[in-house]
Amino acid sequence: MQTNAPTQTHWQSNQTVPAGERNTVQAMKRGLFCTCPACGSGKLFKSFLKSVDHCAACGEEMSHHRADDLPAYLSIVLIGHIVLGGFMMTDLVWPVSSWIHLAIWTPLTVILALATIQPIKGAVIGLQWATRMHGFGGQEPKAESGISHPSGNT
Ligand SMILES: [Zn+2]
Repeated sequence: MQTNAPTQTHWQSNQTVPAGERNTVQAMKRGLFCTCPACGSGKLFKSFLKSVDHCAACGEEMSHHRADDLPAYLSIVLIGHIVLGGFMMTDLVWPVSSWIHLAIWTPLTVILALATIQPIKGAVIGLQWATRMHGFGGQEPKAESGISHPSGNT
């Protein structure tokens, strides 16, 4: 009798995923909660916006990620919609002076930016891990032939 049960998993949750497959939604959720996208139990960040080199729980290498500016762009889009929409709706039903709006929406923008950028970065790292970008697939990206490596090595 043949079974379709996975032969090997390295997930530490009750969800079983066949060996080699990575659940993108689950990895992004784990990253959103600032935990390792591979196991969900280790910390993803050692300090504010600084990711760990390796997961302390499962040993997954995290230095491969290249989140770069994407978390900041996503944070701007998200907070821009919340703050601008909130300002416009508030201004319709509660007309107050511009100074009061400035006193409300400016600190809220700063607080929301600081509160959301790290979880968004975690989700981006989870996405990169799940899609095996930038060395998360187990192989370092190789330089194209004819293009010199930035470190001088070929
Ligand atoms: Zn882990």
